[in-house]
Amino acid sequence: MRKAIIAGNWKMNKTPAEAAELVKALVPAVKDADCDVVVCVPATDFAAVKEAAEGSNIKLGAQNVHFAKSGAFTGELSADMLKACGVEYVVIGHSERRQYFGETDKTVNARVRACVAAGMTPIICVGELKDERETGYTDIIVEYQTLMALHGLSNDEVKASVIAYEPVWAIGTGLTATDEQANETIGVIRKAIERKYGKDVSDAVRIQYGGSMNPGNVKGLMAQPEIDGGLIGGASLKAPDFTSVVLYNK
Ligand code: PEP
Repeated sequence: MRKAIIAGNWKMNKTPAEAAELVKALVPAVKDADCDVVVCVPATDFAAVKEAAEGSNIKLGAQNVHFAKSGAFTGELSADMLKACGVEYVVIGHSERRQYFGETDKTVNARVRACVAAGMTPIICVGELKDERETGYTDIIVEYQTLMALHGLSNDEVKASVIAYEPVWAIGTGLTATDEQANETIGVIRKAIERKYGKDVSDAVRIQYGGSMNPGNVKGLMAQPEIDGGLIGGASLKAPDFTSVVLYNK
């Protein structure tokens, strides 16, 4: 049995004071969650979130990591730096980074390797554009993105990774893949992992759905056998909404 994992992706939102307020509200609210709970926050909020989440079941996540150990990369943060701040999870290859910041499957892979080498868990985002779904290329796209991102990891490292299937047309749009569409495409991703790494790996790896997941649709999505959790954008910014998503089975 895979343990579900619900992660909030705050994107470029919340000052440290706002971050602390949100996490302080979440700590008692999600303490009995059956799933792993993560908040992926701006680096400027790491210290505030770490302090507010101290002793709780809420884990700290980042939204990106650079692939180099150190050096002349103005504005970037290395895996060792994140790790030293208490970061345990890193969102890598989010579609907004692919779309606005030139992220490629190759750089996603380099970031995943750096993240894993530093002892953190990558949350690797894959997903098709609207026209790719409409032209029937969803499966090829998500298989390729997934296998490229995992390239070079050991079987155990793949097992411990988290994949987030996020159809790009469903992110921040209010559109959600149907429960069946999400389940089917996540099944395609799992099959691709099985072909390359074997069934014990594909049975272990956790694959989330992301794309306008919210208190109203979380139950249906989480009832699907392939879906092991969610990566939550908009609905992670308000304590009551994120709490309802995290407590989807209560
Ligand atoms: C995301 O940013 O990964 C995301 C899924 O956003 P939203 O929930 O707002 O669609």
